[in-house]
Formats: sequence, structure tokens, C-alpha cells
Amino acid sequence: MNKLLFLILSVFIANSLSAEDIELKRIEPPNWWVGMKNPNLQLLVYGKNIAKTTPEINHPGIELKEVKRTDNPNYLFLNLTLKNELQAGNMTITFTGGEKKILHEYFFKKRREGSAQRKGFDASEVMYLLMPDRFANGDTLNDNMPGMTEKADRNNKNGRHGGDIKGISNHLDYLKDLGIKSLWINPVVENNNPEFSYHGYAITNFYKTDPRYGTNEDYVKLIKSCHDKGMKVVMDMVFNHCSVHHWFIRDLPSDNWIHQFDDYTRSNFRAATTFDPYASDYDQERMLTGWFDVHMTDLNQKNKNLATYLIQNSIWWIEYADLDGIRVDTQPYSYKEFLSQWGEAIFKEYPNFNVVGESWLHKEAFVAYFQEGTKNFDGYNSHIPSVTDFPMKYALSSAFNEKDGWLEGIARFYYVHGQDFLYGDPQQLLVFADNHDLDRIYSSLKNNFASWKMAMALMLTTRGIPCIYYGTELLMEGLEHDGHGFIREDFPGGWPNDPRNAFNKEERTARENAAYEYLHKLIKWRNSRSVIHSGKFKHFIPENNTYVYFRYSDNECTMVAFNNNPNEMKALDAIKYKECLDPYTYAINVITGEPVYFMDSFTIPPKSVLILDFKK
Ligand code: CA
Repeated sequence: MNKLLFLILSVFIANSLSAEDIELKRIEPPNWWVGMKNPNLQLLVYGKNIAKTTPEINHPGIELKEVKRTDNPNYLFLNLTLKNELQAGNMTITFTGGEKKILHEYFFKKRREGSAQRKGFDASEVMYLLMPDRFANGDTLNDNMPGMTEKADRNNKNGRHGGDIKGISNHLDYLKDLGIKSLWINPVVENNNPEFSYHGYAITNFYKTDPRYGTNEDYVKLIKSCHDKGMKVVMDMVFNHCSVHHWFIRDLPSDNWIHQFDDYTRSNFRAATTFDPYASDYDQERMLTGWFDVHMTDLNQKNKNLATYLIQNSIWWIEYADLDGIRVDTQPYSYKEFLSQWGEAIFKEYPNFNVVGESWLHKEAFVAYFQEGTKNFDGYNSHIPSVTDFPMKYALSSAFNEKDGWLEGIARFYYVHGQDFLYGDPQQLLVFADNHDLDRIYSSLKNNFASWKMAMALMLTTRGIPCIYYGTELLMEGLEHDGHGFIREDFPGGWPNDPRNAFNKEERTARENAAYEYLHKLIKWRNSRSVIHSGKFKHFIPENNTYVYFRYSDNECTMVAFNNNPNEMKALDAIKYKECLDPYTYAINVITGEPVYFMDSFTIPPKSVLILDFKK
């Protein structure tokens, strides 16, 4: 269409509307930054009949390259090119529709110093996962907020309990004392849903902190406090789905923004269909387009405007909140091509950043498929450096309960480790014993404290990035089949009127203190032991219900030896481990601090782990 004709038509359409029929409600991202590597920015503009206006930008350093309209007159997508000469400050966007002129001031901020070089979480750090609604309630005044449909009810296991950002910031010293170096916090963005709003995965606004947790500014302050205490923060993000109550779902920009069906259609949750060479189109389609749950609509990232929206949203949070990492929810459920494009965009802006994908699959080969650097048969590269080590998790929650076997019991770890060749980078695996979706590890291990200690020791000494679920340090219990509320219970003492405060040593039980002290000791030791962060790994075939591995480098060596026999003391012949021990003369027992002189053998008491740092 020639420009003149377009102008005449636009004026004609605009004139046919009365001025009050045109509104500007929001523009997202709400601001941007100057000096980003990617010169392109797409603004989603929303408001009644806004597409019937003509947007104009006359600002040095900005070119309005393209104006995109959809079938819905309430949306405009503005494609901008940002040039080097663009300065921080306001630019004016003018929307003209007939008589009506709407002016909007859009702000470009200056970036933080060193923003592009920010360093993501890594295997030198112990991560702690907490659920903000269930950790601590630092401000009871925000438990119920105007406009938020679900009200707090601590008696409802599936309800909101009132935990918030203030509650987290009140307890940073507790986490620091435990030795924690990074926090993964379940989603904090708005979930304005009538029920189940506490878990955070049914988002109603991608740019706004849920007011029952605090404001965006409170979230930024929390991250600043974490940084001041030497802790990183990982933001939990969801691209696969959002709430049916999200504002853009209630007024879809276009029909193909989401996957729609005549009748409710659920995903088959068989993530392997996304790469299985034999998968039927039917199964793969159902996996990717089916909804996660009745109240979570499935987003279609094949829609380019939506893909751009999600990518920019992630970059906005990194830059705005000063993030150290992102956890990608339900990684295999989004189109893998989209996630790869997302990863590329993130790492183009922040080459030293880190991202962990929730690759919830049961087999090593399946998880490996989703990690960056894995040599996949179809050439797929996720551009996501870290993935969740679910095979190790399944071994951790069962091996110590089982009798010795060729494949079962302690041998499980031998086979999980032995498949590390599949991964792009085993050191980037997130190693965990439980999380907010799974049985709590102490319950998985049938409340056996000795088994729990062995599981924690493995998690903190194997390759990868260990992640502790809140309350594990106090042996919190819960089984997923009883309901999610049972594995996401309130941290005792997080609420003002709790009968006891387990953040304080004096108010913990003897058993809780024993668990806390054990983890505390192991984590503190791990924090200073570089061979555990980046050393090589070598293991020996399990024998007589024992399993031994070494973490080693040119100058350091640590031995981790498990005895899973319930009653029998085991002596390990030192000569067998000669290839690892040669330059060393003695060792320090990491737990007891005692020296160990190993002439012939190492002895391990029943149902325990021996961790030895070797010395020359
Ligand atoms: Ca609160």
C-alpha cells in the first residue's frame, strides 16, 4: 500500500471512532536500556482500539522500523531500532487517531556498571531453593491486598500463607550462616488467581511482583541485600504457560498466541516425545500444545511477537533486578527451537550468565538432550548451560533404602555417574535430592538419619551444582502424593505467632540441630574446597555395598566412600586406590577433623560416609 493511501485510510478509520473509544493502557517492556548489544526492541502496546491510531517517534537514535497490527484492534507491536547515539532519558511516542492524540513518555535507562559481564551461579556455590509464600512472613499487612482475589488462609494447605520478600530478607543471615551462596526463589511475579495462587507458576503479569510478596522495588532491594552478603539470586521464569486470568489471555492479541482446543486438552507430559526419533506426530503435538493444567493456558512461542515478548521480559528482569541466574520452568514443554533462540539472546547480552532448565526426565540421555554442548543426533543445541540432574535425584531418594544389587542400591550412583559422557558439561548439572514438586528427601529415605547424611554428602561432593530445598536442613518431611501442600509446608518460625522459631538454634530439636550442624559443616568445607567445585571425578566399581569416588586435581584430592551396610563395618584396601593416593601421605576426616594415616586400609562404619581430604 502506498504511504499516501495508508495515511488517508488511517485518518478515515480514526475519524470514524470517537476520541473516548481510544485508550492507551500499557506498553511493555515498561522501559529499556541504552547500550544493549541487540539494537532491536519490540514494544507491545495495549489499549482499546490503539491499533486504529498512527504511532510516531521523533527521537535522536531511534528508528520506528515497523508497526505491526494483529486481528485484535487493542494491540500494536512497534519494532524499533536503537542506534549508538541514543542517550538515556525519555522519548515521546505519539499515538494519533483522528482528533485524539495520546502522548507516552518511554524511558531508556543507563545500564549498571559491568552489567553485561555479570557472573552467573556455578559449581563453586551451594544453592538453596525456597518458596516465598512458605518461607517467612515478614509483613502481615501485605497478606491480603486490594485487587488480589485469593486471600491468605494458613489453614488451607493449598492456599496463600502470607510469606513474602521481607520474610526472605529477614533471614538472609540464617542462609549465609548455613553457607548458602545462591538462592533460587520460586516465581515472585503476580499470580492473581482465585485459588492455588501461592506456587507462582500461573502468572498473571510478567512484569510485576505479586503485591502479596512486595513491590518490584522490594525484589530489587532483596537482591541487593543478597549481593551484599555474597549470595546470588536465581529468578524462576515460566515460558510454557501462564494463567487463564492473565490480562493478555483475557484479550488475546491473536488467536495463535496460545494453543486452543474445542475441549480442554491436557499435555501428555511425555517430554521424550520432543526428541524421540520414533515419536508420532500425534504424541509430540499433544505434549507441546496440551495445557499444563486447567488454569494454565499453553503459550504458543511459534508466534513471533510472543517469542520476542518472553525474551525481552527475561532480559528486562536481568537488567532491572540485577539477576545472577534464571531457572527455566518446564523446559521441554516449550518449543525447543524457541528456547534455543531465547538462550542465544540471553547469552549474547550476558556471556558469563547462567541458566538452569527444568529438564524433568528420568533418563540421563533425555536430560542431556536439553543441555548446551551435548552432541545431539539432530544437531539441537538448547543454549541452556545447566540442566536438572533428575536421574541422580531418583538415585538419591532410593539407593540408600535398597539392598546391594548389580543395578540397585549404592550401585545406582555408579551408573548415573558412568553416563556423564552424554552431557555437554556434567559440572553444570544441578544436583538435588528433592524440590517443591517431589517427596521431601528425609521422607523418601524413610526418616533414616544415616541415609539422609549419606544423601547430603553425595549431593555436596559429586560433580555439579548442589541445590538444597528449604527445610531439608531441618529434616522437614512430606510426601507429594498427600498433596503439594505437604511438601511445601511453612518454615517453623517464619510467622510471627509460630509456637517456635527454628531459625534459632535454641528453639530447634536436638535432631534438627544435628542435621543443621552436619549440613553446615559439609557446606562450609565445600565452599573452601576447590577440588569439589571443579576437580575431576573418578570412581571404583561398588563392592560389598560400598562405593568410592575421588574428586581430584593436580594438587588436591578428596575421597568419598560410602558404606550402605546396615550393621557391618567395612575396611577398604588402600592399595586398590593407589592411582589416586600416590603422592599423599595422610588425610583429614572432613567430618571429625581427625587425621587418618592409611597404611593398609580405610574403615567405614556401617551406614555412613567417609570423606577424606588428602595431604602430602
Ligand atoms: Ca506477608
